[in-house]
Amino acid sequence: ALKKTAKAYEKKAKPVKQAAVLGAGIMGGGIAYQSAYKGTPIIMKDINQAGIDLGLNEAKKLLVKRVERKKMDAAKMGDTLNRIVPTLSYGDFKEVDVIVEAVVENVKVKHAVLAEAEKQIRDDAILTSNTSTISINTLSEALDRPEKFCGMHFFNPVHMMPLVEVIRGEKTSEETIATVVSYAKAMGKTPVVVNDCPGFLVNRVLFPYFGGFAGLLRDGADFQQVDKVMERFGWPMGPAYLMDVVGIDTGVHAEGVMADGFPDRMKRDFKSAVDVMFENNRLGQKNNLGFYKYE
Ligand code: NAD
Repeated sequence: ALKKTAKAYEKKAKPVKQAAVLGAGIMGGGIAYQSAYKGTPIIMKDINQAGIDLGLNEAKKLLVKRVERKKMDAAKMGDTLNRIVPTLSYGDFKEVDVIVEAVVENVKVKHAVLAEAEKQIRDDAILTSNTSTISINTLSEALDRPEKFCGMHFFNPVHMMPLVEVIRGEKTSEETIATVVSYAKAMGKTPVVVNDCPGFLVNRVLFPYFGGFAGLLRDGADFQQVDKVMERFGWPMGPAYLMDVVGIDTGVHAEGVMADGFPDRMKRDFKSAVDVMFENNRLGQKNNLGFYKYE
């Protein structure tokens, strides 16, 4: 039955020849790399040059590693990089078939960015959001064409994590889902179509886990010991290290969305260590200082 569904989607999918990503941060840079590496050209837009430089550097680092490991030659590296077009403007967006919005995890900012982007693209182009937690129905309130909008939720680091949640909003059309499923596959990912709610599927499992970790810290646990224990339990990394990878700011914003969405289950009645780190600009790996120090 699953195979049948995948086939049905394939028939409805429209070709994706040109993609774009809004926001060149941890996720935007990774999405641009993955799309370009697998052959779909992608425009990478940010609001500042520093963001663009970071995103491009990330992509370059990954490619250099592949060349060093002899998994790619220098010519393919050049071709891949040429498929990423960095920009600060909406210049070529009429060419774009699918956009992935990957700016900060904030409803107001995302509403503004999505509404602005919708005006820059063709009527038949598809908008998606890489939001970790914000409901797709909520985000679609800013749009004139909600049927052309859905979630496309990658995981971090994008080049290593196979799963992509494709989130169906109330008004999302089947053609939109089919096209995004097919783009995710073309990127070498495993798409799973899920219904809409704050946190979708994976983060409804993950954020209660982070909440449990916050409770352990409040009760006096040592974060390094918790990480070691969870690694021995068999997970690739513990919750403190994972929070550093995700970004403390992104984690705090996403926790807020989950707490608003499920107040009975997710609201905390204490300030956590993660909240304090955020207030002190310890953002995790993105600024080399989180639970751990990085160089
Ligand atoms: P980030 O802070 O690393 O990057 C955000 C980027 O967006 C910055 O470069 C910023 O300059 C840019 N930006 C802000 N406003 C913009 C605008 N108006 N137009 C274009 N660019 C703009 O954040 P991130 O970790 O990459 O997260 C981005 C999104 O992806 C969030 O919604 C987050 O919840 C989601 N996400 C994050 C992770 C993770 O592990 N970090 C995983 C999955 C999904």
